[in-house]
Amino acid sequence: MKVKQMYINGTWLDAQNGERRTIINPYNQEAIADVPEGDETDTQAAIDAARTAFDQGEWRQTPASDRGRIVLKIAELIERDKQELAELETLDSGKTVSESLDDMSDIAEVFRYYGGLADKDGGEVIESPIPDSRSKVVREPVGVCGQITPWNYPLLQASWKLAPALAAGNTIVIKPSEITPLTTIKVTELIEEAGVPQGVVNLVLGAGAKTGQLLAESHAVDLISFTGGIETGRKIMTAATGNFKKIALELGGKNPNVVFADSDFETALDQALNAVFFHAGQVCSAGARLIIQDDLHDQFVEALVERTKRIKLGSGFEESTQSGPLISREHLEKVENYVKSGIEEGANLLIGGKRPEDPELQNGFFFEPTIFTDCDASMQIVQEETFGPILTIERFHSEEEAVQLANDSIYGLAGAVWTTDIRKAERVSHQLRMGTVWINDFHPYFAQAPWGGYKSSGIGRELGKQGLEEYTEVKHIFENTHPQPLHWF
Ligand code: NAD
Repeated sequence: MKVKQMYINGTWLDAQNGERRTIINPYNQEAIADVPEGDETDTQAAIDAARTAFDQGEWRQTPASDRGRIVLKIAELIERDKQELAELETLDSGKTVSESLDDMSDIAEVFRYYGGLADKDGGEVIESPIPDSRSKVVREPVGVCGQITPWNYPLLQASWKLAPALAAGNTIVIKPSEITPLTTIKVTELIEEAGVPQGVVNLVLGAGAKTGQLLAESHAVDLISFTGGIETGRKIMTAATGNFKKIALELGGKNPNVVFADSDFETALDQALNAVFFHAGQVCSAGARLIIQDDLHDQFVEALVERTKRIKLGSGFEESTQSGPLISREHLEKVENYVKSGIEEGANLLIGGKRPEDPELQNGFFFEPTIFTDCDASMQIVQEETFGPILTIERFHSEEEAVQLANDSIYGLAGAVWTTDIRKAERVSHQLRMGTVWINDFHPYFAQAPWGGYKSSGIGRELGKQGLEEYTEVKHIFENTHPQPLHWF
């Protein structure tokens, strides 16, 4: 079993209270690591270190191109240790190694992208309306950034925050999910190896209410960036009002996958399965609401059920596995309760809805891929993010109805439209109230394009140049080139 520590002010430490937490593998509940269980005291020490490192200015005054080179070095080190990182992610989160390897490639790409972008925005000179003056607009780092990440994409979500914050010259206190801290610990080692100065990146481990909450409340923190559930997001936003810190929230989604009758049947079918059952549905952008046109409904549903029967659950380390377990017993019970509520509300359970019977899977938190038809927007399973392998199916007749059903949600993270009529696809994509819309595809995202939600899916954007801008303040510098007395008195 690995024994790990936190990283504060350039030193690897145990929690000051001496407490520890055992990290378990959700595939078989075996203990895989022993980590410190920090609290407010450790968080305060990390905030103090980040504050001093920012205020003393070594990192923010490092030329942006040099900061960029260090961020690029982190990308290289991630590539070097990709296999080890991927296996650690699989042990910790249950996802398949091939998914974890894809995550690691994406993570390296995120660091590469922001490393390259670090010195590209030199500000702009603006035309001043005042004679004998010069005006320029520059971007500066925000300051001390608190970063809180979830368990479903532990290192990927951390990379979306760490890379732009570092490139922009901020200092950081990062707090990963207490369930899945291992890859963030490993990447902190790589950040140290890459030569990021002491105090610039600090890693705190522990329960959100004791560590993350203080990051949101502290007046010494200038920005809080959070990815996680909507209720936690609400607490963080409230706590952040104390000093009106900048806030970035990446919350959940209940993403519609709209399939028109003129879609390419095989591709839409294949991707509808991947959209919802990938990583056992524990994906913020999961296509959990299939909204399908009447004429195609019965044929599509029948084929979906046939294909769903073939999904292979198992260990993330076995090549044949297509889906791993849910993250925890608590989460498994939450997903089971959603199935109960779906049945009670009158949805028609077609397949799944229970734990698998396979004796090999009894020690893990597995749940069968589940499909409900006859769903409507009044149902809890249609409105709430189950974050499990549950697909709800609604049917529509007209294009207007499809748009109305797709938008009928408090969330607005992502959605897809499937049709061979490109004009219709264009029209619908503009009417969907979501941060990302895919046409004839589902799930693609990349470092170069912004990611984030409309409505209750969040505030702000990660990735793309917008993801870097979140970590900057805008300053206008005005210079009077010919100062004269005003002769007021
Ligand atoms: P969560 O809200 O339970 O926890 C997220 C993080 O917040 C954890 O690190 C946790 O320790 C911390 N936390 C808990 N209470 C806190 C508090 N009072 N103050 C500060 N921090 C606190 O979420 P989760 O269960 O880990 O992750 C699943 C959720 O994340 C889903 O809703 C999913 O949609 C969302 N998510 C969104 C995106 C996106 O890009 N929009 C990406 C991934 C996950």
